[in-house]
Amino acid sequence: MIVDNSPNQKSLNFLEEIIQSDLSAGKYKSILTRFPPEPNGYLHIGHAKSICLNFGLGLHFGGKTNLRFDDTNPVTEDTEYVESIKEDIRWLGFQWANEFYASDYFEQIFQFAIKLIENGLAYVDDSTSEEIAMQKGTPTQSGSRNKYSERTVEENLKLFNDMRAGKFKDGEKVLRAKIDMSSSNMLMRDPILYRIKHAHHHRTGNDWCIYPMYDFAHGQSDSLENITHSICTLEFIQHRELYDWCINKLAIFPSQQFEFARLNISYTVMSKRKLLELVNENYVNGWDDPRMPTISGLRRRGYTPVSIRDFCEKIGVAKRENLIDVGLLEFCVREHLNKIAERRMVVFDPIKVVITNYEVATQNEESLFLTTENNPEDPHAGSRKISFGKEIFIERNDFMENPPKKYFRLAPGQMVRLKSAFIIKCDEVIKNEHGEITELRCTYFPESKSGSDVSGLQVKGTIHWVNANENIAIEVREYDRLFKVENPAKEEGDFKTYINIDSLKTVKGFAEKSLNEVSSNERFQFLRKGFYCLDKDSSKDKLIFNRTVTLKDGWAKDAKKN
Ligand code: ATP
Ligand code: MG
Repeated sequence: MIVDNSPNQKSLNFLEEIIQSDLSAGKYKSILTRFPPEPNGYLHIGHAKSICLNFGLGLHFGGKTNLRFDDTNPVTEDTEYVESIKEDIRWLGFQWANEFYASDYFEQIFQFAIKLIENGLAYVDDSTSEEIAMQKGTPTQSGSRNKYSERTVEENLKLFNDMRAGKFKDGEKVLRAKIDMSSSNMLMRDPILYRIKHAHHHRTGNDWCIYPMYDFAHGQSDSLENITHSICTLEFIQHRELYDWCINKLAIFPSQQFEFARLNISYTVMSKRKLLELVNENYVNGWDDPRMPTISGLRRRGYTPVSIRDFCEKIGVAKRENLIDVGLLEFCVREHLNKIAERRMVVFDPIKVVITNYEVATQNEESLFLTTENNPEDPHAGSRKISFGKEIFIERNDFMENPPKKYFRLAPGQMVRLKSAFIIKCDEVIKNEHGEITELRCTYFPESKSGSDVSGLQVKGTIHWVNANENIAIEVREYDRLFKVENPAKEEGDFKTYINIDSLKTVKGFAEKSLNEVSSNERFQFLRKGFYCLDKDSSKDKLIFNRTVTLKDGWAKDAKKN
């Protein structure tokens, strides 16, 4: 299938152009891409970019995408990570054609190495890693071969088989490709293909004590799967020559490598190794801490797959590294949640309002039920009942005793509308012996009911509220950026010195009772506050909500002020 050329079609990115022209030229009947994570940590938003790209290209061109675990490094890998990676990809909305593991190819890759040795293109080297580094030369000076490079094919075959049989200790020998010690590409100066590592592997157990290096596993795995377009990040540009050399010398399926820029986001770090440090040293509460840029962290925070896919689409595919403003990610989730999140009223810092002229209808009927829309952006979202009563809570900062001009919220003698309820007027301010306001006495206008207002009163402000006697106390976790600086990985010294220690704030709130029956995948807008979702730490008696994002970008506002 070729792209549809409807007039609304966006211009193609450079990878789409390459694929389009490969297909038009009949180079391939259909394309096959892969997403190749190393199972040594949880996926982050950078991986989401790669997932959306690889799976997106597969879908766009009617091809397929494999999930391949690049598990050639036994020490850092774990099945916990394999499971989390699969969950994250499914959650993002993608389905792989095949689930493969580079470790499944260990025998074939070993045979590839034998083939290179037989063709005089690889040798066993006894040098230490320091010696190998020394002999490599410098970018301006050729390297030199050592005596081991002169070993015969027979000798190399025997030694390589002995390496596999476990006859040597870690580091005692390596297998190197025999390429070009004066190449301008340092990676081509007889690169290491295999090393000895007596370590347990999460899938192959103790079957192997030699493991192929990235450069002798990745391209080979691509080729074994008939991957047409192998897309990776820019740091692998230098590796492409070696990728091609290996495939060429082995005369196997000619997969091709293409590179794009990694995603970096401001105020966070984006490497599994660094994220693991944050987890292990308890700077955060696990990989899925809502402050983490991991997919599991974003999910727990309340991000939706739609918002993450939209973000990946918006940033596009670049050929040069850059730092994307985290505000864009927040914009994407805000935009999506605004469409789908039901509205609720929650008062965080309450002040009690007593409505002096409110008559309780009967003794059994403490409250009056009003109706309010669930989501004004979504006509199908319906409505719900909220209870009004003689005593309500409003936000302390929605009242000012000595308001400036043009203050449209509550003040002595001033009127305000209570959302989906009535207009009230403040008659009296009650204070305790310390002069603190404890209560506001107000009157309400029964004929000003929202939706059927015949009072003729004009007010400019509308505030949210909850019934003071019928509500539920909730806990809210407000998250801020995890780092104080834009690009912690680029700062001097340990990136952890730039952690924002105030990135988590816990506050209490009083919520309308309907929040009692929510499930963890529902998202809410707390009116005039932000977007929230239930956290997994909640229990029946204690509901905990995560703030996904505020309604407005508070940081941009602060930046303007300064
Ligand atoms: P990290 O340094 O975070 O461990 P990695 O590149 O080592 O990242 P892998 O598991 O090897 O992680 O990556 C799987 C795929 O995701 C690779 O194709 C890699 O290029 C891509 N990828 C990783 N990080 C990013 C990023 N920040 N932006 C875009 N793609 C990324
Ligand atoms: Mg890696």
